[in-house]
Amino acid sequence: MSKRVHAWIGLGSNLDNPLEQLARAVAGLATLPDTTLLHQSSFYRSRPMGPQDQPDFINGVVLLETALDPHLLLDHLQRLEQAHGRVRLRHWGERTLDLDLLLYGDQTIATERLTVPHPGLAERDFVLRPMLEIDAGIRLPDQRACKDLLADCNDNGLERLEPSESTGLATLPHRH
Ligand code: ATP
Ligand code: CA
Ligand code: CA
Repeated sequence: MSKRVHAWIGLGSNLDNPLEQLARAVAGLATLPDTTLLHQSSFYRSRPMGPQDQPDFINGVVLLETALDPHLLLDHLQRLEQAHGRVRLRHWGERTLDLDLLLYGDQTIATERLTVPHPGLAERDFVLRPMLEIDAGIRLPDQRACKDLLADCNDNGLERLEPSESTGLATLPHRH
């Protein structure tokens, strides 16, 4: 059995009932081979990064312990995106499910298919905040603390959803 490492996965959706997409995706991640789901963050509502004429996103993060090597893990993430009917419309556009490999142990990876830490991680509050909820002391392989990176992020109105808002809802709650 290969060594088990902590892998952080970022989840995002803004189409076809995002809360349900994320809940199903977490269930899918929990049943990956040679993998255990250790923690799941709250869900958050964030404004889209790219084109603004699209719905707000729902985001969250999970922490896995896995024996899958990083490229095999990416295969599984992309298979789950496909199973959720993801279609590529435009860069940073709307999607039913986006699964990003944020961190893989303390490894730095740069291949054609895979860059780890995920290149957007350090600037994205909708990734850093849920990660810090799970581990307030988390650091990148270069030792930068996620807490410090979050302090430097622009305020984009990220909103944590109460657990009651995150479950059993057919539609998104309104922004207030
Ligand atoms: P961003 O990467 O800025 O969040 P995105 O999630 O919209 O944008 P995608 O279209 O989902 O980007 O992914 C494009 C490609 O990124 C994928 O085909 C994948 O091979 C590659 N990729 C590189 N590093 C990673 C990573 N750490 N996690 C997921 N995909 C990655
Ligand atoms: Ca992404
Ligand atoms: Ca992605």
